[in-house]
Amino acid sequence: MNNQNENKEEKNKNKKLLLSLLVLVLLIALITVGIVYFTKVKGEEDDKTLAYTDLIKEMSYGNIEKIEMTTGSTQVKVKMKNEEEEKTAIVPDTEAFIELVQTKVAEGNEIELIQKPRSFFAQLPSIIISFLPTAIMLALFIMIFKMQGLGEKGKVYDDTQRKTKVKFDDVAGLDEEKEELIEIVDFLKRPEKFAKMGAKIPKGVLLYGKPGTGKTLIAKAIAGEADVPFISMSGSEFIEMFAGLGASRVRKLFEKARKLAPCIVFIDEIDAIGSRRTSNSGAETENNQTLNQLLVEMDGFSSEETIIVLAATNRPEMLDKALLRPGRFDRQITIPTPDLKGRLEILKIHTKDKKLSEDVNLESIAEDTAGFTGAELANILNEAAIIATKNKHDGIENQDVEEAVKKVTVGLEKRQRVISDKDKKLTAYHEAGHAVVSQYLPTQTNVKEVSIIPRGVAGGYTMYKSDEDKYYISKTEMQEKLIALLGGRAAEKLVLDDISTGASNDIEVATQVAKDMVTKYGMSDTLGPIDFQGKEPYEMQMFGEGIGDKIGQEVKQLIDTAYRDAQTLLQEHRDKLDAIAQALLEKEKINEEDFKKFFEA
Ligand code: ADP
Ligand code: ZN
Repeated sequence: MNNQNENKEEKNKNKKLLLSLLVLVLLIALITVGIVYFTKVKGEEDDKTLAYTDLIKEMSYGNIEKIEMTTGSTQVKVKMKNEEEEKTAIVPDTEAFIELVQTKVAEGNEIELIQKPRSFFAQLPSIIISFLPTAIMLALFIMIFKMQGLGEKGKVYDDTQRKTKVKFDDVAGLDEEKEELIEIVDFLKRPEKFAKMGAKIPKGVLLYGKPGTGKTLIAKAIAGEADVPFISMSGSEFIEMFAGLGASRVRKLFEKARKLAPCIVFIDEIDAIGSRRTSNSGAETENNQTLNQLLVEMDGFSSEETIIVLAATNRPEMLDKALLRPGRFDRQITIPTPDLKGRLEILKIHTKDKKLSEDVNLESIAEDTAGFTGAELANILNEAAIIATKNKHDGIENQDVEEAVKKVTVGLEKRQRVISDKDKKLTAYHEAGHAVVSQYLPTQTNVKEVSIIPRGVAGGYTMYKSDEDKYYISKTEMQEKLIALLGGRAAEKLVLDDISTGASNDIEVATQVAKDMVTKYGMSDTLGPIDFQGKEPYEMQMFGEGIGDKIGQEVKQLIDTAYRDAQTLLQEHRDKLDAIAQALLEKEKINEEDFKKFFEA
């Protein structure tokens, strides 16, 4: 095919560029080695050598008249009393050697010790070596510049243009979404049918959803079902340091799509180019050019051209409204994180080619993983397979899956890490603080496990039972979530009267929750149900002077209240806090059952 030739040509050009860069680097390296070698050999040719042991011996005999050293070199020149010619010796440790000579001199030996700074010639190799990175950078720069030129003539983007074998059956859950997208498959297969009817088919479909929810997968499945090529690119690849290149890449992408039509063009992370056009400073201008080009391209092809552009983002509020106008991405589909049924189906798909032992219960894994995306579930099963292999199990066992869940959520257990008793106590109280506080908060789920064994970057962790799938979260629930998050820090303060950096992640999450409460969910009594998120400064102005300060105050108040509530709860239940922290120090880990026992009777 014509297109494959072009691909080859482009690859050849890239290869040539890489080759010339390689030759350049090799040349510089060769010169360096040459100079080093030359200076070494030259030094050895001029003088006779003296073994280090002999040098020491001669020195103790008092036969040495003069020693000449050069900083940074292990090679020294030695003049003996009874000989005319100077000799060279290699000194393994120059500092120790100087000390030795100095003690000899102090003992009364008449040795002249000359320490010379390094000559320019001797320094040359290291100078070149220190310039090597700069040289390579320069070469790279030249290459990039050349590639930019190439971008105008040929093609430089790295696309994955090929037919995919992914089918709708490979996409678990998302039944409604698939149903909505099936007509696109029909259209790609039989465009004439739709044209005859005068039916309008969307040119662009935006897929909204968290990373890993299967947006790429479903886009591929459309191409796979329709048996048309799938051309993909990520929005971040369009963002270039050289102005104009992004726009040129968009042009090339659509040039290619036209040749391959009918086909699917998939643009991941479209927010990278399609962010609101606000200011026109530096990078923004570049984005605007890229975005404008994308709009031009989408307006340019007629609906008979059977190119469907699918784009994905998890930040719909960031998108430029121009993208959403009719004839562009006029259809939007939200790809949700999977619910219980969806998770079970995803687990089933991803265990098809894995060996499971009897005790693995996919239903209960699905129950325990509320909020997980398809990618995370796939990752967990993959990790479980690796863990099972390490444990030499015949198949994946339930404990392997549980370990994998923890690895993916909190990181790998690090039992070898040495922790001081003081840190252990701090961690024990911090985690006990989270756990005890949650126990007294009606909306918070039960504690599943508390541990002070380090995992990933965390010194310890408190795991909660998974929430059942919920569509709405109440204000009370969010307030209590804040209290639970700050329980760790509150316990540190209460018991040790000092606070640590261990709570940084809790604080980060709590701040985000409080911010969302005020600016996204309109839960602040004073500010009311207004969406303040992603607003431009001029838009914010309509809410009055100093609105930013007021938002800040509200967020701070939510946090302050929660922190105080956490401290009060812990003061009230200090006995439980102490008991659980003590148990953690002894056993390092407490499971759900044992944890419950502390609160019985
Ligand atoms: P996104 O594009 O939304 O970031 P991807 O489509 O790249 O997510 O998903 C990454 C991987 O996660 C997929 O390749 C697949 O293995 C798995 N996955 C995600 N969602 C699903 C799903 N609904 N069904 C099956 N596998 C899924
Ligand atoms: Zn914590």
